[in-house]
Amino acid sequence: MSETLQVIEPATEAVLAEIPRAGVAEADAAVARAKAAFPGWKAIAPGDRSRLLHALAHLLQDNLEELAVLEARNAGKPIADARGEIGMVVETFAYYAGAPERLLGDTIPVAGGMGFTVREPLGVVALITPWNFPLCIAAWKVAPALAAGNTVVLKPAELTPLTALRLEQLVVEAGIPEGVVNVVAGPGSTAGARLCAHPDVAKVAFTGSTEVGRSIAATAAQTIKRVTLELGGKSANVVFADAEIERAAAAAPMAVFGNAGQDCCARSRILVQSSVLDTFLDALHDAVAQIVVGDPLSEATTMGPLISASHRDTVAAFVDADSPVSMHGETPEGPGFWYPPTVLAPVDPSSRAATDEIFGPIVCVIPFKDEAHAIELANDTIYGLSGSIWTRDGGKALRVARALDTGVLSINSNSSVRVSTPFGGFKQSGVGRELGPHALEAYTEIKTIYYATQEH
Ligand code: NAP
Ligand code: MG
Repeated sequence: MSETLQVIEPATEAVLAEIPRAGVAEADAAVARAKAAFPGWKAIAPGDRSRLLHALAHLLQDNLEELAVLEARNAGKPIADARGEIGMVVETFAYYAGAPERLLGDTIPVAGGMGFTVREPLGVVALITPWNFPLCIAAWKVAPALAAGNTVVLKPAELTPLTALRLEQLVVEAGIPEGVVNVVAGPGSTAGARLCAHPDVAKVAFTGSTEVGRSIAATAAQTIKRVTLELGGKSANVVFADAEIERAAAAAPMAVFGNAGQDCCARSRILVQSSVLDTFLDALHDAVAQIVVGDPLSEATTMGPLISASHRDTVAAFVDADSPVSMHGETPEGPGFWYPPTVLAPVDPSSRAATDEIFGPIVCVIPFKDEAHAIELANDTIYGLSGSIWTRDGGKALRVARALDTGVLSINSNSSVRVSTPFGGFKQSGVGRELGPHALEAYTEIKTIYYATQEH
């Protein structure tokens, strides 16, 4: 391993760590270690696998503050958010720790005998994760993969590898055998691409952009690997005139400016019924003014910097002299990849800001006439990940929820990610589901066994 990878702190632009940069050879070595560890891990009794995952969850809890600070500094996220995310990492391992003894099959009486099914692990699985929620998204994949008896190679994003490397150490400290979890900190174009092509990898679970997801699916198809893809989004926050407008407006900013807008679930299009547009905008502006942009390690901060200079430039290019800017927040002076919370209103639904995933703190407010118009606008996108509906009319809420082509929805709330419920997208937002029992099944293969009962 000859090259060095410099890990940058986005709030200061300083070098946070220098680590070896993995490439194709390291990816191959990691797959070989995972392959060697697989028979032993698969053979461990379910109850013992469960105890080891519980031990890891406890160890993560013991190291929560250290991991949260590392994540806050490396990803530039507010420390309070980072604590919440590491809390979810603990919860995810604890949830799937209960799973090994609950991997059940079916019993199916058939002519001349009995059919039954068992769930087998896939083998070596490659897990490729993005920089926006580094350890959280890794946990969503590592925990069910291990619970089901697979061994894993985890490739974190090059920009944010530090908490994944720490996880690799904690896994061993928890008593999980060496080789069961292997972290390869290197670029997607070399280490990542190699994992997707490697003949000994049975599945690729990927979270990232739709563009990279397409290329991963194409590569994985060559060896018929299983794939789970969690991709981009352009989710709608639909506010009807009969909603609690103040509540909807107060909740809207963090549904898009949380994690500085670098959230696949960001409700980045706010669709507002025309009759309440002005009232809603006034309340929205008041709420956006409350956002505190600044040092991720300050307890008061609610929004940090963007992940990199190049990403900030991509985000900034969505706003020009012709954009209908109705509000621009403040950013700190000095170094750091800052971009202010920005409200565009009213936005033409066919403009680039309204159709493309910005992945930054820019929200488009788009007026609509009636229920049918709201549904048409919300579904007019290649994506379908999440969304919200605000109304006091329960029947309308459920009607609209059924009509939206999206994987996850919340009614009178902007929160939709829970450890025990499935998460994933319709359309070009992805394939498959993470979290809940669905993710566990996605790391197994069904085997049907037929047992003859006829006399010979
Ligand atoms: P990205 O560029 O797609 O990268 C994601 C991961 O894939 C990184 O680890 C990256 O490695 C790796 N990668 C890149 N090219 C690869 C290749 N050819 N083969 C294998 N791996 C490759 O996404 P990002 O820039 O990190 O994150 C932003 C995007 O992720 C947004 O579009 C967002 O919507 C999406 N996202 C979706 C979800 C979800 O759950 N649906 C969650 C978070 C983010 P390197 O970066 O190290 O080169
Ligand atoms: Mg990228």
